[in-house]
Amino acid sequence: YGDFSQKIDYVFKVVLIGDSAVGKTQLLARFARNQFSADSKATIGVEFQTKTLIIDNKTVKAQIWDTAGQERYRAVTSAYYRGAVGAMLVYDMTKRQSFDNMAKWLEELRGHADKNIVVMLIGNKCDLGTLRAVPTEDAEEFAQRENLFFMETSALESTNVETAFLTILTEIYRLIS
Ligand code: GDP
Repeated sequence: YGDFSQKIDYVFKVVLIGDSAVGKTQLLARFARNQFSADSKATIGVEFQTKTLIIDNKTVKAQIWDTAGQERYRAVTSAYYRGAVGAMLVYDMTKRQSFDNMAKWLEELRGHADKNIVVMLIGNKCDLGTLRAVPTEDAEEFAQRENLFFMETSALESTNVETAFLTILTEIYRLIS
């Protein structure tokens, strides 16, 4: 069966940002471990999880960072952004304010991150469609204007989560290779 020890060709750091409670932690749990937990987390402090995948026959280790609550204290530091090649700007599509704050998050990101960083806008909780407060077209327009990829997801129902991460990682790969 050959050699199971993995040779890693690339490590891509991707940061999750956005207001508290939009679903960043659950998106990461869904992507990295295929899990979802309805309980809100208690721990504070920067955390990341990794997932190794194959893109174009290369082994890519995605290192996805979660603010783990730092944003509540406006304490997301430059260390968080350091070395990031991708960022997911997450809002809750049932909370208009979390979308309106995307411009501020983008500004913060652009102030701290590398200028070639690949950015994706994520409208999470699309399973709560009846409570929608952000029309898809509003988000599409913002994404187009700011040159961002865009996707609506549900960490709860697993909708588009894998696709969103694969899209950003593939785009990073395309830029770097
Ligand atoms: P964070 O503060 O941005 O990391 O948000 P969390 O991942 O802790 O999620 C905040 C709350 O939203 C929790 O109660 C989650 O269970 C819930 N949540 C997260 N993602 C979804 C989703 O896709 N759909 C629904 N209905 N709830 C979600």
